[in-house]
Formats: sequence, structure tokens, C-alpha cells
Amino acid sequence: MFYCIYLNIIFFLVFLLHLDQVYNWIWKKGIHSFDLMTNISKELRSFLELNFEINRVKFDISQKSIDGTIKNSVRLNDNNLIEAVLIPTNNRKTACVSSQVGCSLNCEFCATSKMKIIRNLKKEEIFDQVFLMNKQSLNLYNKPLTNIVFMGMGEPLLNYNNVIAAVNKIMDPSFLGFSSSRITISTSGIPKFIKKLADDGVKTRLAISLHSAREEIRKKIMPFTTKIPLNTLKESLVYWQSRNKKKLTLEYIVFDSINDLKEDIYALIEFCKGLRVKLNLIEYNPIENGVFKNANNKAIELYKKELMKYKITVTIRKSRGKDINAACGQLVNKSRKFF
Ligand code: SF4
Repeated sequence: MFYCIYLNIIFFLVFLLHLDQVYNWIWKKGIHSFDLMTNISKELRSFLELNFEINRVKFDISQKSIDGTIKNSVRLNDNNLIEAVLIPTNNRKTACVSSQVGCSLNCEFCATSKMKIIRNLKKEEIFDQVFLMNKQSLNLYNKPLTNIVFMGMGEPLLNYNNVIAAVNKIMDPSFLGFSSSRITISTSGIPKFIKKLADDGVKTRLAISLHSAREEIRKKIMPFTTKIPLNTLKESLVYWQSRNKKKLTLEYIVFDSINDLKEDIYALIEFCKGLRVKLNLIEYNPIENGVFKNANNKAIELYKKELMKYKITVTIRKSRGKDINAACGQLVNKSRKFF
């Protein structure tokens, strides 16, 4: 018995000496088994196999949309599932990453809100989604990821510490070496944490899911905003821009019979005053049993025309991956077929 304890202590000390190599295999090469760590001895590999576990997330099922978008169902170690989406275009390979299992917020138009919040993702689970989609992009397109957006399941700012720790690792040159300007944190607008991003010097891009600049409408479609008036949100955005030179992105869906009136447009123009913004008018993706509908093209074009009069940069964004429920607001763990 003493011999056994003595041997384990020796192996543990040897393991500490090889920590860098083990770390590289796990975090840079993405392997899931100690047995594949070919530059360390067989004996040490057996010791590690017996005493440790590598808890990486795994892609369970990947579905491919007719437009090329790939929705990955990601299995976590506790068997919970989340979704992570790879959006390829000619110039970009964008990874849309989840930050929570489910979501605690209640945006009425979003499929994820119909799930209960189960838990926050750990920093490693967030990093792993990016790592695996980077590999997927290299395998399928021979190109690494170019952009990362935190627009998957969950509200990233309600899992602040883990999201920022994962972002730091994604930017670390010894891991993925991403530039901060190619990472976007997209939030439904939590002022306390928007200010914290500014105070902590987080240099990623920031996108706000605004969807209405009229208090009564925003409360109706995003009920949690009852406690977050628009002026408090705007004040936090002004604060963020006082410490960050980047433009803000406002994400905005024009819903039929909800926010498609001229007064909605003027409220939005008023909200944009004093902010450096670009506005994304996003096509809505209907969800199962949902009552929301996309506004017609005329209403969306009117938004664009009026906003441009005030020199606000506007882009009309078509949805990607609608046929496999991979588009914005549709993520809810319902993957069905392999590709
Ligand atoms: S839109 Fe985002 S914040 Fe709102 S419920 Fe869906 S996942 Fe949560």
C-alpha cells in the first residue's frame, strides 16, 4: 500500500513537470483523451487516465441549412444541451455562441425564453464552443473563424464573469488570438453590466437588442424591461461610449402591428441622439406557437428611409438558418437530423 501511495506521489510530481504539455494538448489541440498525448510517457498517460477526466463539451448533432448555416447541438458534461451556430458567408465565418442553458429573461418573441433557465455556462464551456466551431470551419471551409457573436442561448451579461473569462482566453495569442473588434457581446440591455464592461476596459463590440424605443411597447415584448426604463439603458450606453470609441450596434426587429408605425420610428431616432450607432433591422423568425410576425417590406423600408435622413447607418439583415431553427431567437434544443 505504501509503495502504491509513493508511486502516485511520484507520478503526480512528474505530471506537474508536464503540465504545460498536457495543457497544450487539451486547450490548443482540443483532444479528449490522455492516450493521444503522444509526447508524454505511456506510464504517465495511464496514471492520468486513471486519476483525471477531460471534461470537454461535444457536438452531438449538427444540422445544415439550405443557406449553409450549421446548427450544432452541444452536449455538456452534465448532459444538458445548448446550441452553437456556425454562419459561413464568402468573407466571414461567424460563430454564434451560447452563454447560458436556457434564459432567465422573457422576451416574448424568443424560443429560448420558453425554456427555463437551468444554469450559467462555465468559462471552459463557452471557450469550447468557439474552439470546436473554429475546427469545424477549418475542416469544412479550410478557413478559421473570423467573427464571434454572443447571440446564442442566454443573456451573456447575466453570466458576466464566465463570459469575460472566455473572451479573454479567445483573445489570448497563445489560444485563439482573436482581436476584440471581431467579438460582439449582444445583450438585451442590462445597464449595470454595460457600465461594468466599460469600467473593466472590455474592448469587444457591443450590440443591444432594442426592438422598441417606446417604453410601453418594449415592456410588452420584453417584460423584464419593466424594471429597466429606456432612459436608464440609454444612460449606460452613453457611459459605455464615453470609455469606448467603437460604434454600438442596435438590433431591431420590426414586428407587424407592434412597432411598425411612424411614431415607433421617431422614438427610435430620438433614442439614437447622442449615441454613435449602427442599426440592424433584423428579419423576424417565427417560433412554434408564437404570435409575432415580421412587418411587411414597406414598413421596413420606411424605417430605413427615415433613419437615413438622420444619418443613422442602417442595414437590413436577412436571417440565416431559418429552415433548421438556427436563426436569431429560434434556439431551443430541437436538433433533428444529421448532415
Ligand atoms: S432574446 Fe436573448 S435575452 Fe431575450 S429571452 Fe431570448 S435568449 Fe434571453
